[in-house]
Amino acid sequence: MVTCSPSCRSAGGIAAAGHRVRLATHEEFRPLVEKAGLEFYPLAGDPRELMDYMIRTGGSVVPTHLDHIVEDVPRKRALIGEILESTWRACTEPDPGRPNAPSFTADGIIANPPSYGHFHCAEALSIPLHMIFTMPWTSTAAYPHPLARLDQSGDRPMLNWLSYGVVDMLMWVGVADVVNACRATTLGLPPMDVDDGTGLLDDNEVPFTYLFPESLVPRPADWDPHIDVASFVFWDQAEGYEPPPALRDFLAAGDPPIYVGFGSCVVEDAEGLMRTLFEAFDKAKVRGVVSEGWAKLGGAAPPPGVHLVGDTPHDWLFPRCRAVCHHGGAGTTAAGLRAGLPSVVVPFFGDQFFWGRMLADAGASPEPIPIGELTSERLAEAFAACVRPEMQTRSAALGARVCAEDGVDLVLASLYRHLPLSAMVCAQDPGHLALVYCEDCRMQLCRPCYEAAHAGHVAHPYRYIEWGARTPDNVTDDVRALVTDAAAALREGLGKILPIMAPRRHGVVFGDDEAPGDEAADEPVRRRDRRHGRAVT
Ligand SMILES: [Zn+2]
Ligand SMILES: [Zn+2]
Repeated sequence: MVTCSPSCRSAGGIAAAGHRVRLATHEEFRPLVEKAGLEFYPLAGDPRELMDYMIRTGGSVVPTHLDHIVEDVPRKRALIGEILESTWRACTEPDPGRPNAPSFTADGIIANPPSYGHFHCAEALSIPLHMIFTMPWTSTAAYPHPLARLDQSGDRPMLNWLSYGVVDMLMWVGVADVVNACRATTLGLPPMDVDDGTGLLDDNEVPFTYLFPESLVPRPADWDPHIDVASFVFWDQAEGYEPPPALRDFLAAGDPPIYVGFGSCVVEDAEGLMRTLFEAFDKAKVRGVVSEGWAKLGGAAPPPGVHLVGDTPHDWLFPRCRAVCHHGGAGTTAAGLRAGLPSVVVPFFGDQFFWGRMLADAGASPEPIPIGELTSERLAEAFAACVRPEMQTRSAALGARVCAEDGVDLVLASLYRHLPLSAMVCAQDPGHLALVYCEDCRMQLCRPCYEAAHAGHVAHPYRYIEWGARTPDNVTDDVRALVTDAAAALREGLGKILPIMAPRRHGVVFGDDEAPGDEAADEPVRRRDRRHGRAVT
């Protein structure tokens, strides 16, 4: 849910390139973010509450049972309202947790797609928006949306492509009124209807950088150039880690074990699961290290040959194991490959099924075993498959390819590739960020350059991207017409032939002396705005 580790590493890379970076996430991550040398802003909401909600709704962002709807929806909607408001403050206000914190106004937003508020805040501030995410979120015929729970093995390009729009629509309709209330009262923006709110990121061609390697998830042929596939971003934690003596002794006492851990997944029958694990180790005749985690798998004393551990850095422990068995979270999937190990994936919900499928397709794991179908027999067979030389060799080769790419470097390159720099920099020095537009000289300038050489000229506040243009009303009709003859089109990549909205305009001048739409084609967009609407003099 909260992919703070890759966010921290990516943000650290951006800060190291000389940018001021603030990471907005839930308060419990403040120490982690600040330890990484980054600015922090607390978002509303408790990640564990969201995780619990996902479990109880079977991984669906929309509840599937009546009791969930009655019980959870009002609370969830209130939570989303709070997250939206705190996202806006994260873009515009000093850190409330630090006295005398410096002022802050975002010049650009980088976000995960399912986090709320990113597009709306970027629209309100007229600034660039860039998505970074660990799982596919862009429509493609190549595979279904990871949260759609469609069978991934079938050759069903049309269903695959439509699944992205369906997930997006379900996510939008449940919260549209909450989002629109925030747009009206906090952001000063017009409401969005269902056409605008669904497919917001696809329709507006918001640039994406995906944090998975093409060697594991091939880039779909129907993704446009604004979508980049980078690689995993690893989080180094092994340095300075001191293992408990009992763990060190256990590892030294025999063959490398198979690691089992289900991350933060909540397990209903922890004791039953533990028994299944112990039996599987015994049947496969392998040693095991089991992480107890949040789920409190403990209780039963482990048999000889099995050792229980608390939180242990994956980059320390995995290289000392021969295979890993996990829930298929993106982070653990990456950590297993980094160590060159085969995985046994036991997916619980959400994108975990997707990662299980991808690892199996790449030959780095046996078929995934959903938690509901887990037996000691199936697990023992999977363990045995993992220790066979073929799977060890394939996993090691894939791991070597994955490790050869530095995800953070690729993320930076992707960000720069999509940033509308020519619209953002001062006309008199590309090392400055433009904040005013000189009417007399018709150029964007930073404030010092404006004050030094344009004193007395008329100027207006200036920002970078007009996100406010909306998809023409007839797109839904067009899509409907297309769908009737879509199978062939989907193979070509439906994304290529869909009518897209008017091209995004770069450069936004705020003022009230010219009506919007007057500008020549090569001039910035003119906009009235209640926050920026006063002239700079
Ligand atoms: Zn001037
Ligand atoms: Zn300048």
